[in-house]
Amino acid sequence: MRKKISILGSTGSIGRQALEVIEKLQDKFEIIGLTAGSNIDLLNEQIRKFKPKYAFASKPELIEGAKVAALEEICSNKENDIILVAVSGKIGLRPTITAINNGIDIALANKETLVMAGDIVMPLAGKQGVNIIPVDSEHCAIHQCIKDITQVDKLIITASGGPFLRKSVEDMKNATVEQTLAHPRWNMGKKITVDSATLMNKGLEVIEAHHLFGMDYDDIEVVVHPQSIVHSAIEYVDGSVIAQLGLPSMHIPIQYAITYPERFEGIKSRSFSFSEIARLDFEEPDWDKFKALKMAYNAGREGGSATVCLNAANEEAVFDFLAGKIKLFDIISAVETMMERHTVIKNPSIDEIFEIDCEIRAKTREFLRI
Ligand code: MG
Repeated sequence: MRKKISILGSTGSIGRQALEVIEKLQDKFEIIGLTAGSNIDLLNEQIRKFKPKYAFASKPELIEGAKVAALEEICSNKENDIILVAVSGKIGLRPTITAINNGIDIALANKETLVMAGDIVMPLAGKQGVNIIPVDSEHCAIHQCIKDITQVDKLIITASGGPFLRKSVEDMKNATVEQTLAHPRWNMGKKITVDSATLMNKGLEVIEAHHLFGMDYDDIEVVVHPQSIVHSAIEYVDGSVIAQLGLPSMHIPIQYAITYPERFEGIKSRSFSFSEIARLDFEEPDWDKFKALKMAYNAGREGGSATVCLNAANEEAVFDFLAGKIKLFDIISAVETMMERHTVIKNPSIDEIFEIDCEIRAKTREFLRI
């Protein structure tokens, strides 16, 4: 039987690669819905090729060849076996909750879902018996390593270190958008690439790992591994360390997430060779240079609305950086200031989370214009 899937964000980096996987595994999947933002030409091209029943975009009237259905409608359609949430930003949160409430498994590529509302989403998924299968390479690696979470002592999340790993703080201060977007290992969307350069991305991943695997922040370690071959690891109570390795291609974790618990050859292009890779390096992150990582740990430990604040301030500042309005380190000072000024609310509801998110964004914009 073919697995029925919908992809939220099918024209983005993860969405496009997911469709490449599905193209290789045509006999394994049937597409229920595809949704996009403004890239309507690509969406229509995807509709012609993959023939989903439903589609959605910011200008739905321009959709050709599929029935228009809103995100919430697609996510409540019980025909779906799994929904790949590959949109970026807070827009991913409500549809994910809708899908979980309808008992549909989630392949999760959207960071905000757990960073903003992990305390709501994970218990809900548990209650509904829904699998949340992470797409991000690090969490996907941990997901593959864990047999019994109660026997795990520590999660070890690897970080490539981004384009500024060997650069000075001074170089980072004067970094152009172009230099920041030149990620040495991974080809990703712009926002996440900026976050990878500041290591905020790693910080957000630590918060996600805390929610996904129920681990204390003290038991989540970040290690810089420039080759990006070890995608993450876990240490069991007896000292055994299990790591997941692979070439740095997002196709592998995407395919794992959407075909789970099965595995297929699918997208695999070549065999892994230790001798070709020759060496793997590891080092501690430079906490002074990459302040964002520390801020993310602090926000995670504070809990409640602190991670909502962290995420909102960061995203607003990153947009400004990408628009050429501010410098790279202004992102860090904006987040730092917003975190200092924010009064944390414990256990915020989804509505409160969205309110706080809007409020912090407005304040961040105000701060950055002064
Ligand atoms: Mg990652």
